[in-house]
Amino acid sequence: MIEVRELRGVGVGTGVVVGPVLHVSRQTAAAPTDARSALGADAELARAREALASVSAQLRERAAGADEATRDVLEAQALMTDDPELIASVERHLGSGVTAEKAVADAFGEFAALLADAGEYFAERAADLHDLSDRAVAALQGRSTELVVDPGHPYVLVARDLAPADTAVLDLDRVLAFVTSEGGPTSHTAILARQRGIVAIVGAVGVEGLPDGTQVIVDAERGRVWVDPDAAELADAEARIAARQAAADAPAGPGALADGTPVKLLANVGKPGEAAEAVRLGAEGVGLFRTEFLFLDRLTTAPSVADQQESYREVLAAFPGKRVVVRLLDAGADKPLAFLSPGEEENPALGQRGLRALRASASVLADQLTALAGAQAQTEAELWVMAPMVATVEETAFITRAIHDAGIRTAGVMVEIPSVALIADRVLSRTDFASIGTNDLTQYTMAADRQLGSVAALQDPWHPAVLRLVKEVGAAGAALGKPVGVCGEAAADPLLAVVLTGLGVTSLSMSPTALADVRVSLARHTLDDARAIAEAALAADEAADAREAARAAADTITAGR
Ligand code: PEP
Ligand code: MG
Repeated sequence: MIEVRELRGVGVGTGVVVGPVLHVSRQTAAAPTDARSALGADAELARAREALASVSAQLRERAAGADEATRDVLEAQALMTDDPELIASVERHLGSGVTAEKAVADAFGEFAALLADAGEYFAERAADLHDLSDRAVAALQGRSTELVVDPGHPYVLVARDLAPADTAVLDLDRVLAFVTSEGGPTSHTAILARQRGIVAIVGAVGVEGLPDGTQVIVDAERGRVWVDPDAAELADAEARIAARQAAADAPAGPGALADGTPVKLLANVGKPGEAAEAVRLGAEGVGLFRTEFLFLDRLTTAPSVADQQESYREVLAAFPGKRVVVRLLDAGADKPLAFLSPGEEENPALGQRGLRALRASASVLADQLTALAGAQAQTEAELWVMAPMVATVEETAFITRAIHDAGIRTAGVMVEIPSVALIADRVLSRTDFASIGTNDLTQYTMAADRQLGSVAALQDPWHPAVLRLVKEVGAAGAALGKPVGVCGEAAADPLLAVVLTGLGVTSLSMSPTALADVRVSLARHTLDDARAIAEAALAADEAADAREAARAAADTITAGR
């Protein structure tokens, strides 16, 4: 037997753990063999209905006790199980005289095959359907599908992939890491790992061959599983774990590169209640306060100036003396708001959205600015206000004047549309700062809808075309002495954060749970290192190559010390 020493997969986050492997797999339902029914189609249909109803009820029961994200997935799965199309397909299959087991498996199989053909994201949702099929067949066979895992000690959980219904019943406190042989960065395992801060590697082909109890190092940062590590490898892993722990425990000072170059680490906040958690996790301020939440449940009218002012005051009050960047209402496309709706549009992402929608509703803009200025007067925070989806110099000049005229000193624009990145020098000469929204900037650069799973592979901010645009904005900011931040998801990727800094970005804003990892990653590199790593990424042809090139450049630099 060939001894496996190292397995590769896609790491989630940057953690490292050491522990023993434990396989958790539900016994998957054996493909129904004796498929001819002795009962007749009507009786089989009744059995199928009963089995699907019991799976659906079980999913809903688990959803009730699960965290919010898992609950959403479980409820969606229950809906799939209840889908009349599914029962119609089961009925069709029963027409050929097979058992309910066979008809249910075939019906789910058909739906899964459709999804599997529809691109990477949907292929991963197909895994959810296989799980539902297994559960329904097991229910028909009177078998349990429970994962019963309690080894009595912490363990590295190994599985083919984890279904939401599995993770809802696992005691995650015992789980040191997830390593799955299937699944990609958008699989449920990866999503859960990110949310819960669990070290994970997905798509680690070959991991299913490791016997239970095998000692492994799971290194998410490098996407590697080291099998039966020797003393030196263990010592290296333990040192990295200790360094991460020390960094997490240390009072979070201001974000900086290894040579002391400051890089402000800010929080993305979606509701006033999130400010306290951002402070606890060491945010130096807020880099993006999305104000849509106030408007989302409004059908015909905007919230009053007084209501808005109170919400803004609450966030500003959590950051006395610190920067709080508030984004003006960003309505449209992925954030539709009924009362600001421009009516039917063929392409809402290219329509009357963001600043365009605000300009069309002058009173909504005026009220929001009045409320923000009022909140500024009540608190000690340093209020910066920026506009979303700005496309031109004229729009930049318009909104900068409007923000200043409202009595707010610092005005800026988001760079989310390639046009403003390409003329960033002219845009920044008309305003006080820029904040790059890499989510939309990637969407518009790659012409890939950020909500569409089938083009998710193109929605990657590592693409060198996106990085070039960031470089353009960074260079303009440096030349004009104006701050340039990033507040899209890209800022939360510890290695990409280094690249962005190398491209001239001076602050990074992210979900507060990402702050610690980004802080550690920045502290490992000087500005010269970051520039060299950024150059390596820019020289690549594809997003994946850029990521690899940056990783290789960073490893070479660190090894040379
Ligand atoms: C972005 O587009 O990167 C951004 C930060 O804004 P949102 O995700 O809210 O569109
Ligand atoms: Mg955006």
